[in-house]
Amino acid sequence: MFSIKMRSSLGGKNGNGGKHISGAERIVQECDVEKTVLSLLERARSHQRGKADFINVKIQEISEEQAARTKLLSVYSHKSATKDEGRLFARKELVRIGVTPKAVEKAFLALESLSDSMRGAMILDSVTGERLDVFGERGVRCSNMDVALSNNYEEKLSALGLSGEHVREALVLASKVASCKGSVAELCWSDDPDYVTGYVASPKFGYCRISVMKELGDFIGGRVFFVAPGTNVESYIDYLQNKVVLVEV
Ligand code: AMP
Repeated sequence: MFSIKMRSSLGGKNGNGGKHISGAERIVQECDVEKTVLSLLERARSHQRGKADFINVKIQEISEEQAARTKLLSVYSHKSATKDEGRLFARKELVRIGVTPKAVEKAFLALESLSDSMRGAMILDSVTGERLDVFGERGVRCSNMDVALSNNYEEKLSALGLSGEHVREALVLASKVASCKGSVAELCWSDDPDYVTGYVASPKFGYCRISVMKELGDFIGGRVFFVAPGTNVESYIDYLQNKVVLVEV
């Protein structure tokens, strides 16, 4: 299998600085490498955040035998009409999962005070709300994951009335995060200004899609991973960044 990673930006110098436009990754069979690269290039050049002037694509062979496998989280939904309603529901859902109200408030405060999107996620203790990673404004990037078989995935999602890259990538990421020892819950809303849907996910209840979590036009997104007290943060981050995980549908 091959891992293909793309990141793109606009207005930087040789890819440094500038505005982040889009990043994505896939793990595919060798016969699908070319078509996947083309679709990622297309995405970087026609993104709602802007047309990238720097695109980095990395292609690497990986061992299928060494990949871990996990189940796709089950999906449930909540319809919200406004950002406030969506965020209130998300707060309650996180508490129902087992995050303390104090940690929930700290997470919202941290995300709502961002002046620009992070590229990754913050890791917070699910009881104290203390930030445990030292990645500052960059955050921790979860990487090296994809669906095991794309066709099965498309069928299952369209049966649920869901489709599109956003849902696919978020569900795969959330399934990998939920499979990691120590994970309690995840909170996310997108940095794509046209995409107002967000989610709360957990190993306990699955992936809860919340239809409105931010204002249309807002380009600031964020993610928080809540972990159980005593979690070994180094191993947690190592798993999220480096372990190849194929998500089975
Ligand atoms: P997105 O859902 O791709 O619009 O991303 C929303 C936010 O989640 C971003 O602003 C980042 O803070 C964070 N994020 C995006 N991709 C990742 C990732 N691979 N790992 C961790 N956090 C991410």
